[in-house]
Amino acid sequence: MSQIALPSPDHAILQRRNDLLKQLKKLVPGATLITDKEGRRTFETDALTAYRCLPLAVVLPQSTEEVSAILRFCHQNHIKVVPRGAGTSLSGGALPLEDAIVLCLTRMNKVLSIDLTDRVARVEAGITNTGITEAVATDRFFYAPDPSSQIACTIGGNVATNSGGAHCLKYGVTTNNVLGVRMVLMNGEVVDIGGASLDAPGYDFLALIVGSEGQFGIVTEVTVRLLKAPEGARPMLLGFGSNETAGACVAAIIAAGIVPVALEFMDRPAIHVCEHFVAAGYPLDVEALLIVEVQGSEDEIDTFLDKIGEIAQDFTPLTVRRSQSAEESAKIWKGRKNAFGAIGQLSDYYCMDGVIPLSKLPKALDEIGWICRRYRFDVANIFHAGDGNLHPLILYNANDPLQLERVELCGAEILKLCVELGGCLTGEHGVGIEKRDLMRVQFSEVDLGQQMRIKAAFDPDWLLNPGKVFPLEGQRTQ
Ligand SMILES: Cc1cc2nc3c(=O)[nH]c(=O)nc-3n(C[C@H](O)[C@H](O)[C@H](O)COP(=O)(O)OP(=O)(O)OC[C@H]3O[C@@H](n4cnc5c(N)ncnc54)[C@H](O)[C@@H]3O)c2cc1C
Repeated sequence: MSQIALPSPDHAILQRRNDLLKQLKKLVPGATLITDKEGRRTFETDALTAYRCLPLAVVLPQSTEEVSAILRFCHQNHIKVVPRGAGTSLSGGALPLEDAIVLCLTRMNKVLSIDLTDRVARVEAGITNTGITEAVATDRFFYAPDPSSQIACTIGGNVATNSGGAHCLKYGVTTNNVLGVRMVLMNGEVVDIGGASLDAPGYDFLALIVGSEGQFGIVTEVTVRLLKAPEGARPMLLGFGSNETAGACVAAIIAAGIVPVALEFMDRPAIHVCEHFVAAGYPLDVEALLIVEVQGSEDEIDTFLDKIGEIAQDFTPLTVRRSQSAEESAKIWKGRKNAFGAIGQLSDYYCMDGVIPLSKLPKALDEIGWICRRYRFDVANIFHAGDGNLHPLILYNANDPLQLERVELCGAEILKLCVELGGCLTGEHGVGIEKRDLMRVQFSEVDLGQQMRIKAAFDPDWLLNPGKVFPLEGQRTQ
């Protein structure tokens, strides 16, 4: 069985369930309330499917006022609340608890305003990441952070996990592209944090909220930066004879001061699975593949790709190929963006999300290979190499409890390695339940205590998304 423990349920809440749900239904008649077992089962897990738990109920509000009324009611009745967007979290951040209500934002998916002069849009938290770009694409604007799950995941979930994506190397991750949020605190109070301009007055609380994994409040509205679409963009494929040479080439490109818009890495197993899945045109005779994309005018694109091609020559590339058309570029990206799905067709996977300094990439890849071999697991590596954000996908059988236990240990060793190499436990997927028990590897007791006191300042009763992020035994004691 899995080693990950959840907080013990409040039996008084479980006994009063029917009565409480009746009261809640009366309080927010416009919200969808799911109480039947089949309906709740849809929400019993997120994308970390190894863990499941049926929630007390699921509520889907339609407005900030409804979210406020629900939280105030839960606060008064001491009911835990698990915020949820689309449930694509890979760290178990949206995993329900049996005595908690799941508050799902996906019905709050409207664009509230768009200002192309100031280059901002205000949207409800349940809109999908691509929904924002779709709303401004005809005017040649876009919202930059592009997690591979972008057609499904919500901007609220992106804010909560500080999501990144393939094109974040140049444009920054969520925290660099969000200007303000409206957030409901556990006691029902509504607060506006940040604003619609780059520098909001007051303390920079926004930096605290982005990446807070639903611990501080429920985000209901987000003001995002919009960027003008570039004149043009083109990816180039660089294939190498080993992971290590590809890793060294990544470090050399960045060290040369070139910042491509995207710099993605795939190893041999990942290349083959993705090629089989979408026929992206990837070379099959290489051990590792880099997808390097640059943007600008045709001349700028050619200059950058020439320079990158020159740097790659020092690492004896087996493939150097520039995309020749928009269709070819789309295929190259389709392969990368569908990589997790493609691997998921073949096997269960446990997706790690550590960060390392770029200079350590070759060593990290070598050691990850050794760790997985020691635990007798195959591994596929697909990741945002330009910013050192690794995603080893460890292939295992989720129906075998012994393998689940072993894969957790294997994953923990990989994350410890990232910390030892000077990196950190999570780049973009969050801590959730997955890395909660590893927080002490990264942080001292004093650091953790300080973080927990901030949590308690927002949510003194620890009712919001409990059991996640902070080591279980430390929760509620701050
Ligand atoms: C195939 C696949 C590819 C992925 N690729 C990437 C990638 O490239 N980059 C990346 O960063 N991530 C990636 N992810 C992970 C995931 O998509 C992101 O973490 C995403 O931001 C989660 O959004 P969501 O709406 O699904 O949130 P959920 O999974 O529902 O929730 C995630 C966390 O946010 C909290 N939360 C959700 N909504 C709110 C809210 N409105 N207010 C407060 N807290 C909230 C939840 O409690 C939970 O802790 C991928 C996942 C999958 C399955």
